[in-house]
Amino acid sequence: MKKYNFYAGPSNIAESVLFNVQKDISISTGLSILEVSHRSSRVKDLFDETEKRVRELCSLRNNKKVVFTHGGARMQNCMLPYNILLNKEAAYIDSGLWSKMSIDDAKKIRSVEVIASSSDMNYSFIPKVKVWDGEGYLHITSNNTVNGTQFHCFPKTPNGTLVADMSSDIMSRQIDYDKFGLVYAGLQKNLGCAGGCILIINEDLVEEISELPSMLNYKKIIDAKGMLNTPPVFAVLFCNNVLKWIMKRGGVTVLEKENTTKASILYETIDSIDLYEGYAEKEDRSKMNITFFLKDQSLSEAFKLFINKREIYGLNGHRSKGGFRASIYNMLPLKDVEYLAETMRAFAANH
Ligand code: PMP
Repeated sequence: MKKYNFYAGPSNIAESVLFNVQKDISISTGLSILEVSHRSSRVKDLFDETEKRVRELCSLRNNKKVVFTHGGARMQNCMLPYNILLNKEAAYIDSGLWSKMSIDDAKKIRSVEVIASSSDMNYSFIPKVKVWDGEGYLHITSNNTVNGTQFHCFPKTPNGTLVADMSSDIMSRQIDYDKFGLVYAGLQKNLGCAGGCILIINEDLVEEISELPSMLNYKKIIDAKGMLNTPPVFAVLFCNNVLKWIMKRGGVTVLEKENTTKASILYETIDSIDLYEGYAEKEDRSKMNITFFLKDQSLSEAFKLFINKREIYGLNGHRSKGGFRASIYNMLPLKDVEYLAETMRAFAANH
């Protein structure tokens, strides 16, 4: 029986997706798709099909390029400052551990301006920026996986380009992708397993930069449709199955509604029981990562034992922060969230 999995990523995967992935990599045709050249039509068709599903689910216009890359989301933290709007500003909002990492990597590459930060308050809220007037790019991390905060409205960039690391909330809610020049996300949360990253970028941001090594070069990677070198076939095949699952569920709008319900069940539990306290400012709370702690921290070990006995996994907060975090991405069923809330109530009743 599947256990209750609240890990932050890699994270819970629907059983039907795991089943279909196994079918897709089987050798029923004599050769598994994982055994054949990435130049073969089977792999090309898989990539085309996956891209098509992304375009449909995100309602992308034709000016957007979609590619799958290696190296997870952090690789994009490096590729981005090498590649776009080189003679303009690179501005960042510092809203959590992962945005700080993006900033630190970008600083090694070009001059960076941090226009707002919540680091002084341990990243418990989203720094509010309504409008950024610069002409370069403004980078945000749309959902802060570690701290449990999320941008519920995005800064306007009338003269510039908005860029987002959406690793922990892509396809969890309806997004107007026209607001963004570039979006990237590691696949291992809402889109499947680790080993790849999705990049959605406006065509006109892709420049020819001959000094860059090929594997860091957006133009080369995009011109080669993500197949400049051997691509992460398994991660893309996995992602394709997750996208099929999203479509079968009714698309992103349906999931967004369910994610809102899931998050409010846990926040209501936290807010209504004196034993627990939420970590993030209420208005910035994430619908993907619910962070909380026990007001009396001496009870934390007893709480851990209690949840372990109930087969609940992955609820520890990030190692940099402590406390607890329930990651409730798209593929985590509502009933698992209800089970966690019931467990939290049962623990509170005895303490
Ligand atoms: N950005 C965010 C928002 C994340 O949550 C993570 C991983 N948890 C990363 C970046 C890093 O992702 P990767 O391991 O794919 O590089």
